[in-house]
Amino acid sequence: MANEINITFLGTSSAPPQLSRKQSAIVVKYKSHTLLFDVGEATQYQMIEQKIKFTKLTIILTHLHSDHTLGIMGLLTTRNFRNIKTPIKIIGPEWTSKFISLLFFAYRFKPDFDIEIIETSGGIVLENKDFLLESFPLSHSDTSFGYKLVTKPKIGRFNVEKASELNIPRGELWKKLQNGKVIEINGKAIHPSDVLDEVEDNSLKVIITGDTPFDETTVEYAQNADLLIHDATYPSYEEVRAKKYLHSTCTDAANVAKQAKVKRLIMTHISELHKNLEESLRDAKEIFSNCEFAEDGLKVKLKSKV
Ligand SMILES: [Zn+2]
Ligand SMILES: [Zn+2]
Repeated sequence: MANEINITFLGTSSAPPQLSRKQSAIVVKYKSHTLLFDVGEATQYQMIEQKIKFTKLTIILTHLHSDHTLGIMGLLTTRNFRNIKTPIKIIGPEWTSKFISLLFFAYRFKPDFDIEIIETSGGIVLENKDFLLESFPLSHSDTSFGYKLVTKPKIGRFNVEKASELNIPRGELWKKLQNGKVIEINGKAIHPSDVLDEVEDNSLKVIITGDTPFDETTVEYAQNADLLIHDATYPSYEEVRAKKYLHSTCTDAANVAKQAKVKRLIMTHISELHKNLEESLRDAKEIFSNCEFAEDGLKVKLKSKV
């Protein structure tokens, strides 16, 4: 069965408020996981509108600028009001822990649920049987990170004959290999691929940059991604402003997509300086044709070929 990721854009604006676009927030749903990338001011309203549950959430902050974090206090408070007890994970850059505890102190807020905070300085931030989430540093604020989400490929059938040939005792070690873990016997590593039948790779790769200027690091991490979601704050002719404020123009985003050979580009964090979005889209398409601007409420279904 084809693999599938569902993405909903809750907020697609740059920092200053716009009526038609709310501040940054993107929901990525994969299997039983709901990942919320950034929590702009109106996020919980957008979640209610899009029927995104508050219960099972992992919050990922690309950086701590207010247009990406203003909604977090409201969202957490609502969980208390609704008596939601499921724990929540918050992933963000260095200072996230301090930031959250200062907010709680200022609001005299005490959550009725457990919060686990993971501060990243780059590298793997989450790994489970379904996906791997990795962060990479970007040069937007003191500490900003882009994220690479890669789903784990379907695991092949456990081949008992191969396991016997390799003298792997039945039991715990079999289970580990079946779960995709590397084991060791007499100092020799045995990889799952040694005992599992081959299946076609159905993994999907999504990159979410958050705010960023054009950055070679993104090009490197986004290689062959199924989808790149990239900052496109400014129109193509605002490159001086983009460099000054460490954001991207739509053509910067298209250049990253082209150089990384991604399959599809969606541009977001859109400022009002895009006087004519169609013109901006034309400029971006000249560089990378499979691109579009996000809108609030845009839903994207990513499917693997196999
Ligand atoms: Zn921003
Ligand atoms: Zn920012």
